[in-house]
Amino acid sequence: MSTAVARDVAVIGAGAAGLAAARQLRREGHSVVVFERESLVGGTWIYTNNTEPDPLGIDPTRPVVHSSLYASLRTNLPREAMSFKEYPFVAKRTGHRDPRRFPGHKEVLEYLKDYASEFGIGELVRFETEVNRVWQRENGKWEVRSRKRGGEEEEHMDEAFDAVVVCNGHYSEPRIAHIPGVDRWPGKQIHSHNYRVPEPFRNQVVVLIGSAASAVDISREIASVANQVHIASRSTSNQEAVMVPGYDNIRLHPMIERAHEDGTISFPNGFKIAADIILHCTGYKYHFPFLHTKGIVTVDDNRVGPLYKHVFPPSLSPWLSFVGLPFKTAPFPQFELQSKWIAGILSGRILLPSAEEMTKDIEAFYSSLQTSGIPKPYTHNLTGYQFEYNDWIAAQCGCRKTEEWRKKMYSATSLNRQVRPETYRDEWEDEDLVLEAYQDFKKQISCKDVSLQLHDLNI
Ligand code: FAD
Repeated sequence: MSTAVARDVAVIGAGAAGLAAARQLRREGHSVVVFERESLVGGTWIYTNNTEPDPLGIDPTRPVVHSSLYASLRTNLPREAMSFKEYPFVAKRTGHRDPRRFPGHKEVLEYLKDYASEFGIGELVRFETEVNRVWQRENGKWEVRSRKRGGEEEEHMDEAFDAVVVCNGHYSEPRIAHIPGVDRWPGKQIHSHNYRVPEPFRNQVVVLIGSAASAVDISREIASVANQVHIASRSTSNQEAVMVPGYDNIRLHPMIERAHEDGTISFPNGFKIAADIILHCTGYKYHFPFLHTKGIVTVDDNRVGPLYKHVFPPSLSPWLSFVGLPFKTAPFPQFELQSKWIAGILSGRILLPSAEEMTKDIEAFYSSLQTSGIPKPYTHNLTGYQFEYNDWIAAQCGCRKTEEWRKKMYSATSLNRQVRPETYRDEWEDEDLVLEAYQDFKKQISCKDVSLQLHDLNI
């Protein structure tokens, strides 16, 4: 006889993580309310021309713009590997869709809207409703305080839930590089969160800090209009400035040494340049301004913890959980698995270890990071073990392991990105994996678009 119990669950955010959570929670039989401050689903993938008035995003009272997308953004993963397992990200053949393998951001938003409509998630979402406070009552229930967008402070609503799943995203709160002397440096500074188009950089000398995907894209885009682009990165050694192949105005440097009052920026390789703008492509901070756990869950040097497997704080589990904290992963299929795990645990179908055992596991994890010299901000970086992590969760849920083609495609794309940084989105050599992916999709769904794609692949 099933002992599954249905719970009242609040999900905060209707981005990809919140949608996956809502889908899996409802599938498990729970009642779900999704709180979303925007007026549509999609989170990060809702592009806007708007930027924040504080270009560095330091002022805590600034009006927040959620999305960090720039206008030209195309995915850095192929659609097959990005896709939810349950709902393949198939190229649709209708006029307004973008069928490319690495599509533009609008196509991802369309996919997420399709996903929401396929599983009837929209009806669970309270749009334009911001969560301002989440805390646990003495009776163990979780209280969620929310407010309609534009409403008065006193117009908030408090509601009790058995559990809260936090899916608020972590690419909105800029992290800024520390630059000695920058307070007296006279130029402009901006974080990539507020970068949309290259035009404001026309004829400027730009120092761009960072080396991750956005830094690579944006530096090249800006180089088409800027006078010079100097990329400062911790991953560049202390060598002389080198030109980026294929460009006569992008140079690579080690991290900035100092910004000077006369407007120059100096590097440890002895190079000095009079610069107009510093563009920080330096990533983001985890930020949960609404969450009050009496200090149980903290963000310490960008480590959210203590969390068992990046999801459950032991002493509050399973009533508080997080979907989507890891980075350097293929996010959507991982959100799906984390959500299945949470849903099954909340209903009692899947068991969690005791709080003591989870705490021991976390301590062992933290100490292994320390032994390997991995600093706290990299706690949720799953480079090298995302599939091991996913397969561990899949085993808890009784689901299939990650398909081999996904694993191979992720590696093939990473390699291709290194070999062809300019063209990896349009030139690749893993057609065999694309074929395997679509054959796999065909087993799950029978739709015209999958058949057409297989036809194009000569099957
Ligand atoms: P989000 O999409 O950020 O959604 C969070 C939601 O929570 C938002 O809708 C927000 O409005 C809502 N919210 C937040 N706080 C509150 C509150 N207090 N009350 C109510 N609602 C709230 N991933 C890929 O797979 N492929 C890519 O190519 C790729 N490129 C990327 C490029 C950039 C520039 C960035 C920033 C990210 C990229 N990602 C990519 C990662 C992307 O973040 C994930 O794909 C995914 O969209 C994250 O989903 P999420 O639901 O965790 O967060």
